[in-house]
Amino acid sequence: MNDLLVMKFGGTSMGSADRIRAAARISADARKTRPVVVVVSAMSGVTDLLIDTLKRAEVGDREGMEAKLRALETKHVDTCCALLPPGAQQAALDAMQAAIGRFQRIAFGMLMLGERPPRSVDEGIAVGEHLSSVLMAAYLESEGVPAEAVNCEEVIVTDAVFGSASPVMDPTREKARGRLLPAVEAGRIPIATGFNGATVDGHPTTLGRGGSDFTASILAFALDASELWIWTDVDGIMTADPRLVPDAAVLDEVTYREAAELAYNGAKVLHPRTLAPLIDKQIPVWSKNSFAPEKPGTRIAALTVAAPGARAVTSMNKVALVSVDPASAAVSGARVMARALEALAGTNTEVLAFSSSSYQQSFCFLVRKEELETAVEALEAGLSLELIHGYLKPIEVDENVGLLAVVGEGMQGTPGIAGGVFNAISKQSVNIIAIAQGSSELTIAIVVRRDGLEKAVQAVHAECRMAEKVNVRPA
Ligand code: ADP
Ligand code: ASP
Ligand code: MG
Repeated sequence: MNDLLVMKFGGTSMGSADRIRAAARISADARKTRPVVVVVSAMSGVTDLLIDTLKRAEVGDREGMEAKLRALETKHVDTCCALLPPGAQQAALDAMQAAIGRFQRIAFGMLMLGERPPRSVDEGIAVGEHLSSVLMAAYLESEGVPAEAVNCEEVIVTDAVFGSASPVMDPTREKARGRLLPAVEAGRIPIATGFNGATVDGHPTTLGRGGSDFTASILAFALDASELWIWTDVDGIMTADPRLVPDAAVLDEVTYREAAELAYNGAKVLHPRTLAPLIDKQIPVWSKNSFAPEKPGTRIAALTVAAPGARAVTSMNKVALVSVDPASAAVSGARVMARALEALAGTNTEVLAFSSSSYQQSFCFLVRKEELETAVEALEAGLSLELIHGYLKPIEVDENVGLLAVVGEGMQGTPGIAGGVFNAISKQSVNIIAIAQGSSELTIAIVVRRDGLEKAVQAVHAECRMAEKVNVRPA
């Protein structure tokens, strides 16, 4: 199919009847000129609400659980009534009640068992996306635009890593083409659920928090789309998180590698796994603002000319630094590192930054807080002999840290950038704890004290004058 456009609307872009109307208008306008597949997130706050409901159930808080179930129902029923003309409401309400009923059964099951098994959590929390796809499809239909809600449980085939599943591309491609292309060819807009899939044997899974971006890129890959547009609540990918740096500016273009580094190092505007499926086929991505659709947004592509210098700075605060320190220089540092990394790989822990130094070959690495416990357990098991015999000092964990990452293809071979960055951070009296830079010079990762993180981000943004160098495209 020629010129297929996949568009994804995030939680705030689906956050109210008015926002759903705006998203539907954008979709219907695009459909006038080209085939379109839409992916939607749950309404903002809904995934958190679903997770909280199940947490209440697990601890036996029936009242709390029921209050959350009522809030879920009220939010969607109210939105439905504000969105749809009276004649179109009943069918949508019935479809939504069926989805809410499914979630209620899961919540009551957890209440009875006093447990929250990951596979049931995944089945439950995907309901948020299902509800918003029903709303959007019903609204488009009521406006005379043929549309159809599609649950990606039937489309995206994943492994069984509940809570952070990965797609299995061949069967996904087959299913996506079989389920979505006929609808598009028949002139309908499929409104697919973001965030979810199912294992080969049909058990529901989710792709991880923020995973609707990833759904959209999986579908763009599977359907050989010519573009992916990700609609969110800011004007595009910015030189820094605008909540931390008020004068952050929108970048007009970034390379796949720059965008992937930013996402991986905490820029929430894009889920870290989004770009991987698109790079081989070179499917360009646009990050755009559904609140201001006339603005151009940011184009992410395989660009030939890299913009000079550091382009953007990003940060993460829910991280911890783990340090491993040999007790004497007699211990083979390389062997300890190899065993440590093997232990981490065995638990799928993501090492965000790694740094080693000194004669005694100590090393440290950064992990997400939510992965800390598993990581340390795996490390202690993997290095148990060295720890018991005192060849290694006890493993140290510092949770009072944050990660700052400076990103730009154009930093390669440009002297003075690292110096300027470190200088700017120290002028704020923020202590630098660890530094990592790959040989590609695409990213400088810096670990600092948590309470200095925000100041450091602002200082680096100003020092590198990022907001002044956002345009690569000729005007
Ligand atoms: P959605 O619900 O549309 O998926 P998210 O909340 O996941 O939206 O991501 C958008 C948010 O990402 C923005 O509101 C912004 O605060 C934050 N953000 C963090 N870093 C950046 C950045 N470098 N550029 C743009 N937005 C960023
Ligand atoms: N609704 C899911 C979440 O909040 C997925 C997404 O919004 O991308 O994590
Ligand atoms: Mg998001």
